[in-house]
Amino acid sequence: MLSRSLPCLWITFCLHLCFYVDSGEAQNAKEILLDSKAQQTELEWISYPPNGWEEISGLDENYTPIRTYQVCQVMEPNQNNWLRTNWIEKGDAQRIFVELKFTLRDCNSLPGVVGTCKETFNLYYQETDSEVGRSLRENQYVKIDTIAADESFTQGDLGERKMKLNTEVRIIGPLSRRGFYLAFQDVGACIALVSVKVYYKKCWSIIENLATFPDTVTGSEFSSLVEVEGMCVSDAEEEADNSPKMHCSAEGEWLVPIGKCICKAGFHQKGDACECGRGFYKSSSQDLQCSRCPVHSFNDREGSWRCDCEDGYYRALSDPPSVACTPPSAPQNLVYNINQTTVSLEWSPPADTGGRNDVTYRVICRRCSWEPEECVPCGLNVGYSPAQSGLVDTYVTAVDLLAHANYTFEVEAVNGVSDLSRTQRLFAAVSIATGQAAPSQVSEVIKERVQQHSVHLSWQEPQQPNGVITEYEIKYYEKDQKDRIYSTVRSKSTSATVNNLKPSTAYVFQIRAFTEAGYGTFGPRLEITTKEEATAAIVSSEQNPVIIIAVVAVAGTIILVFMVFGFIIGRHCGYSKADQEGDEELYFQKFPGTKTYIDPETYEDPNRAVHQFAKELDASCIKIERVIGAGEFGEVCSGRLKLPGKRDVSVAIKTLKVGYTEKQRRDFLCEASIMGQFDHPNVVHLEGVVTRKPVMIVIEYMENGSLDAFLRKHDGQFTVIQLVGMLRGIAAGMRYLSDMGYVHRDLAARNILVNCNLVCKVSDFGLSRVIDDDPEAVYTTTGGKIPVRWTAPEAIQYRKFTSASDVWSYGVVMWEVMSYGERPYWDMSNQDVIKAIEEGYRLPAPMDCPPGLHQLMLDCWQKDRAERPKFDQIVGILDKMIRNPNTLKTPVGTCTPISPLLDQSTPDFTSFRSVGEWLEAIKMERYRDNFTAAGYSSLESVARMSIDVMSLGITLVGHQKKIMSSIQTMRAQMLHLHGTGVQV
Ligand code: AMP
Repeated sequence: MLSRSLPCLWITFCLHLCFYVDSGEAQNAKEILLDSKAQQTELEWISYPPNGWEEISGLDENYTPIRTYQVCQVMEPNQNNWLRTNWIEKGDAQRIFVELKFTLRDCNSLPGVVGTCKETFNLYYQETDSEVGRSLRENQYVKIDTIAADESFTQGDLGERKMKLNTEVRIIGPLSRRGFYLAFQDVGACIALVSVKVYYKKCWSIIENLATFPDTVTGSEFSSLVEVEGMCVSDAEEEADNSPKMHCSAEGEWLVPIGKCICKAGFHQKGDACECGRGFYKSSSQDLQCSRCPVHSFNDREGSWRCDCEDGYYRALSDPPSVACTPPSAPQNLVYNINQTTVSLEWSPPADTGGRNDVTYRVICRRCSWEPEECVPCGLNVGYSPAQSGLVDTYVTAVDLLAHANYTFEVEAVNGVSDLSRTQRLFAAVSIATGQAAPSQVSEVIKERVQQHSVHLSWQEPQQPNGVITEYEIKYYEKDQKDRIYSTVRSKSTSATVNNLKPSTAYVFQIRAFTEAGYGTFGPRLEITTKEEATAAIVSSEQNPVIIIAVVAVAGTIILVFMVFGFIIGRHCGYSKADQEGDEELYFQKFPGTKTYIDPETYEDPNRAVHQFAKELDASCIKIERVIGAGEFGEVCSGRLKLPGKRDVSVAIKTLKVGYTEKQRRDFLCEASIMGQFDHPNVVHLEGVVTRKPVMIVIEYMENGSLDAFLRKHDGQFTVIQLVGMLRGIAAGMRYLSDMGYVHRDLAARNILVNCNLVCKVSDFGLSRVIDDDPEAVYTTTGGKIPVRWTAPEAIQYRKFTSASDVWSYGVVMWEVMSYGERPYWDMSNQDVIKAIEEGYRLPAPMDCPPGLHQLMLDCWQKDRAERPKFDQIVGILDKMIRNPNTLKTPVGTCTPISPLLDQSTPDFTSFRSVGEWLEAIKMERYRDNFTAAGYSSLESVARMSIDVMSLGITLVGHQKKIMSSIQTMRAQMLHLHGTGVQV
């Protein structure tokens, strides 16, 4: 007993008083199946024989009670003491780790144990599917290993009150049964089994690359990796062809991650999760981050793949969620220009395009009846240039409208969201009334009867008569004739017989219609060959030249008489309808065309002229409303004219001041006698006269008054197309007047009137106007008063007033219009102007004037009047420009000096000492404070200015352009002077 009790006492002592020193190994990859230390109650393992292993309570290093098994039968030989654990269910484990912590007494330290004392013990296991009771059969156990101590301890160690704890780990597996037992065989050692821990290793659940990998038991072999598929975290999805995988090593470590998950649309990665807050969205899993909702969109939930548009804002179905929502927005500043039956529309882009760049424009045309006002779509008869819809640029021209008709035009901005915002369709609209226009072509001509000497033709009325057709003109000529001489025949109906033709001869016929508005264009050519003549007839005429000569002589005499007679009548009475209204009239050479102006002075009794050319009005039909201006003979008023059976119209009423002389009355009414002869949309229209007291001239009312004042008032507010439209109107009016043989002599912007549709009309036809009426007119050395700045040199020098001198004046009007009413030749004296012109100087291009327009001005200012263009050509050139607005585009500041005069007129910026001086020179001194307030105190700083002048508070486009252009010139001059660039 003594021999046995010695070690036991010692061990007990140790367990109570000594600390076991444990290395404290990380436990995180282990799933514990058995931990003897964790159990505070008795372990109740089977010990056999009963005097072998003994369960003893102890304390660990933390003074926590533990259960241990000890054996120390070192004195007795042939020991075979077994200790078996309870059944351990293995669970998922395949490879089991057994960790033993024990102390083992050094045999040398025990006296009298030589031969029997051992320093090892054996470890066994037995696999079973269930518990097998408490019997223990040695032969059913499989040996795992013989366990020896790394550290045994001796007496000396006791003195330190420390025991060296051995830790041995053994691995078993792969296991195939549900559980197992462990057994410890002692063959005569002195052991304290302090802890038995059985575990297997796991790779603990982990989130990697947004995929969750579950707890994974390691493989059965040390070298095996377990491949594990990851599950995407919520709101994440597998990346295409790249599903997440990881590998669990035998040591319980995750290795080799492959593939990944990505946050779904509406979410972005935050740590190991996917999220997207309110007010954010993520449209695609491919996007890395959630983005803030685009402009005018919102969301009020988390995890959105897109944001919804605010009320009244839209995003096209095809738009990605990153596109801002767009407000429907209409084009702005729709302006138009009517030229007979052609309307040019121009507008600015919508104020807010919502960042979209797919805006195009669509034009909707409706024709409206007067009363009741009902509108119908214009249909296919109206043509659009460049197109009716899909317009990228902000202009369109509608052609082939009906004359004297009411139209509304809507210009709609169309973009990707237009269809969605149908209910809020927004557009800019204008209502217009077309002017008069010549009839369209006569196209369907049928040869009804062809004889030897005559051809009978019939045709359809033109598709667009644009008024009442009073006459048709049939033009014809011999097809093979060398010197093509036209003949014309007129007819009031839609058929005519053309006589006096040669037999067997090919003729070409063309027909055109005539209305109040003039002739339409000729229709297509129709070729007809007359029938062969009977031989006898040919012989008789061919063989009798006397007859031919006689016929020709008689015909020639008749024609000569007719022409002389016509000329005389033309001189005295001008156009006479009776003369030109024969049912069939034969003219050689070109038809006489338009009416001729008759100078009322040629009338012995000027009252007759008034009554011939002006309608006498009943004063009771005229209602004077207010005074609008002062004329030479009295006040000019506005008012209404209501003629029986007609709608009342706005009129201007020129009155004759009280106490007038008979001469003044005559001169006053003379303007009406002249004006009354004209009928053109661009010549101011005379409604009529009241020749009895109170004497009045009633003229169509031109709402915007005279052109020069109007332009000055609206400086910089029109587009070039609008300005050219005005010029075109003036040129058309002048073409008409010059065709009538009327020379205006005082064509200037002040004598052009503008109506509410921006239509410009030539006015001021008083006979004495140049001499008495025009404040610009001055006496010249040649006698008489002349408006020098507007007048051609030959008219100044030797009073040669012609349509060509009117063309010169027209060039000056062009310059006035393009410079918004600037005074031609500025402050130069009349003498200097005459001298400068004589020396070849010409006005430079106004600011932002398209070069083509300035070239036309220069052409009008040719010294040789024969070289100047005719009004007809001017109209053609302007029409071309209007049709091709690109030709009118001028980048700011591109009007380069082309004559020395420009150099005189361009200020030398380097000579200015202050910003104020400079602004004064360019007549923009009103903006002095704007420059000062923005810190531009020196010219240098202005030249270096990099901001838009608009940000200085200069809102008028014309002024912005003027200032910017001037700054550019200043830069150029400084560059030239200093040889250094001003960096902008
Ligand atoms: P006049 O005697 O023609 O030069 O006219 C004097 C002023 O009256 C002009 O400068 C215009 O401002 C105004 N005026 C003349 N005719 C008209 C008109 N038909 N409509 C509107 N204003 C007119």
